Amino acid sequence: MKYKRILLKLSGESLMGDQSYGIDIKRVAQYAKDIKELHTQGLEIAIVIGGGNIYRGLSAEQSGMDRVQADYMGMLATVINSMALQDGLEKVGLKTRLLTAIKMEQICEPFIRRRAVRHLEKGRIVIFGAGTGNPYFTTDTAASLRAIEINADAVLKGTRVDGIYTADPEKDPSATRFDEISFTEVYQRGLNVMDMTAFTLCQENNLPIIVFDMNKPGNLSKLANGEPVGTIVR
Ligand code: UDP
Repeated sequence: MKYKRILLKLSGESLMGDQSYGIDIKRVAQYAKDIKELHTQGLEIAIVIGGGNIYRGLSAEQSGMDRVQADYMGMLATVINSMALQDGLEKVGLKTRLLTAIKMEQICEPFIRRRAVRHLEKGRIVIFGAGTGNPYFTTDTAASLRAIEINADAVLKGTRVDGIYTADPEKDPSATRFDEISFTEVYQRGLNVMDMTAFTLCQENNLPIIVFDMNKPGNLSKLANGEPVGTIVR
């Protein structure tokens, strides 16, 4: 096993499946199955999910909403997604805890680092909801921050492409994929892996980022076993 403790980052949009909005329960069930497979191999797993399938602060600001208000709405959207995934994970028999950066006592625990680590040590899947709890940040930044705080070995960024390419492979068919790339080269080439705040946090704290295709069943386990899946930034 290559990693002991990982942080999995999923975008909100990944939960939509083929829908154009909201949560596709079949997709959630698929992810839960993959995560269970990983957990069975003895890995400690923490998860951060975005909220883009429901609400995005920046887009709402562009339509005239106050940015801070909209960002808090975005953070609440991540809690909805986190609860959906929590349900999916419990349906496959996993023990979970949802910890949020904004207190919501009736539905989850507040984020307390030591508590999060303890849950992981006990084999519970820990989901971090409500991003960083601050407007003007993203869930990529929340993922990097929480990964560093809990001493994760890597951030696994699940996307719908199988790694980092020289250009957007959905637009440029001649784009080629990197197996591995340095933080500096990502900057130099202007590649979009995570937003700059999230990316810099990882770089400054020597936290590798692995970008991989989350929609290919089994990819997660392969990754944990050190098989070459996706692109690693380190
Ligand atoms: N958000 C925020 N602070 C955070 C994390 C998220 O304000 O620390 C808000 C922001 O409005 C963002 C929304 O929550 O647009 C959803 O998160 P994100 O865009 O990162 O989700 P993803 O793109 O991963 O689905």
